[in-house]
Amino acid sequence: MSPSDFPARLLQTLGPDTVLTAADDIAPWLADWRGLYKGQAQAVVRPRSTEEVAACLALCQQAGVAVVPRGGNTGLCGGATPDASPANVVLSLDRMNAIRSIDTIANTMVAEAGCILGNLRRAAQEAGRLLPLSLAAEDSSQIGGNVATNAGGVNVVRYGMARELVLGLEAVLPTGEVFHGLRTLRKDNTGYDLKQLLIGSEGTLGVITAVALRLFPRTDVRSVVLAAVESPMQALRLFELLFQKCGARLQAFEFFSGDCVDLVLKHAEGVQEPFAQRYPAYVLVELADTADEAALNALLESVIGQALEEGLCLDAAVSASLAQLQALWKLREEISEAQRADGPHLKHDVSLPIERIPDFMASAEARVRALYPDIRPYIFGHFGDGNLHYNLSRPAGADRDWAAAHGAAITDAVLDEVNRYGGSISAEHGIGQLKRDHFLHSKNPLELRLMREIKAVLDPAGIMNPGKLL
Ligand code: FAD
Ligand code: ZN
Repeated sequence: MSPSDFPARLLQTLGPDTVLTAADDIAPWLADWRGLYKGQAQAVVRPRSTEEVAACLALCQQAGVAVVPRGGNTGLCGGATPDASPANVVLSLDRMNAIRSIDTIANTMVAEAGCILGNLRRAAQEAGRLLPLSLAAEDSSQIGGNVATNAGGVNVVRYGMARELVLGLEAVLPTGEVFHGLRTLRKDNTGYDLKQLLIGSEGTLGVITAVALRLFPRTDVRSVVLAAVESPMQALRLFELLFQKCGARLQAFEFFSGDCVDLVLKHAEGVQEPFAQRYPAYVLVELADTADEAALNALLESVIGQALEEGLCLDAAVSASLAQLQALWKLREEISEAQRADGPHLKHDVSLPIERIPDFMASAEARVRALYPDIRPYIFGHFGDGNLHYNLSRPAGADRDWAAAHGAAITDAVLDEVNRYGGSISAEHGIGQLKRDHFLHSKNPLELRLMREIKAVLDPAGIMNPGKLL
């Protein structure tokens, strides 16, 4: 098939209701969530079934047309945005949004890729189960996008990333062949685990059409403490004690600097200074269990009592009501928005071997201050997973476009430190277009070669999401 026959064949095969080609119809599909990336496409395809996805990919491969899978478009790295070539096809999963099954004996859910994550969490809840994957964009992002980016979120310290929650998946390869891996087995040692290649592949190997997920008991009983700490090292020691004493009940362990609290108090409404005095940093700890609130509260109070006695924190506020619990969480949840209100800034979503976080933080700060002594770091993140949002705002009084003008050198310095400490330049959000250059520099040659060879096996014509990741 020649490229000029392609649009007609696509329309003929899938129909005008599924294939959009008018410029006005496809315009909303060409930019990313923040409007940082814009691209072009000749068509947007919105299939309703795995068979339609397969038919679309087979035609694209025959014509050598690039395909950009698109979920909820909340990935912040430009991964679901087409590049500048006008020949692209954007393949949106939004109409494949059925829950195929929920099983409360096997504790599994099978859902199509276009299901909104928040809807799946609510469906699990109604069935008396927990789908622990939870992130601020859950009411827009799709489970297919979550799996394609190996999403994380706030409960990773207990339940792991998306990768650990997927039991099986169904995907369409660029040849149009369907990979039937939608198994719900807990144990399966029959060779290479091929589904893991598709998880985190950011649409570069194939299109995920359905996933089988693990469910857990609902943990409706929650207890939260905000602990003040003098340093990241003290936060580490507190983590060590909590993990030992609370085990699997430890559901979140979030860190933020005292400066983050300043920013939140300045920009967010309905938040209060948590203690009579300001401390260098804070840790928000959540324990959760299936039952027995009194026992959970007593456990948290006794562990925090021990931590105060042993000098593992400076001060602590335990939630005594749901309102207090929500108020403590609000301090953490409002940080991103408060930093956005403060103006353009540099974001680095990095992870480190957890025990090296204190040294990394000291050395990264020295590097960036050597470049710009008055830069304002706002460091927070999922400390229990070794994941920091190492965000830097412009010096007080600098122009709003300061970050754009000086960002490249600062980001190079931060990511260089991440590599030096054996960390990862992308903990949660993936690579997309945004971090491609740093990714190509940070991986060792053998890893890159193997990734390219895997890509060539699964996508020999190179039609899947070109210009992303590799
Ligand atoms: P999209 O943005 O549509 O796509 C992301 C990538 O996956 C693209 O490369 C796309 O081509 C590919 N893709 C999408 N669907 C498929 C499919 N069916 N098959 C194959 N490839 C596909 N992420 C976290 O991990 N943790 C967080 O805590 C977190 N918080 C966030 C908070 C906010 C406010 C926002 C805006 C984003 C946040 N994110 C977070 C990032 C984002 O929500 C996740 O990366 C999410 O998993 C992306 O899902 P999506 O459906 O929006 O995917
Ligand atoms: Zn995060």
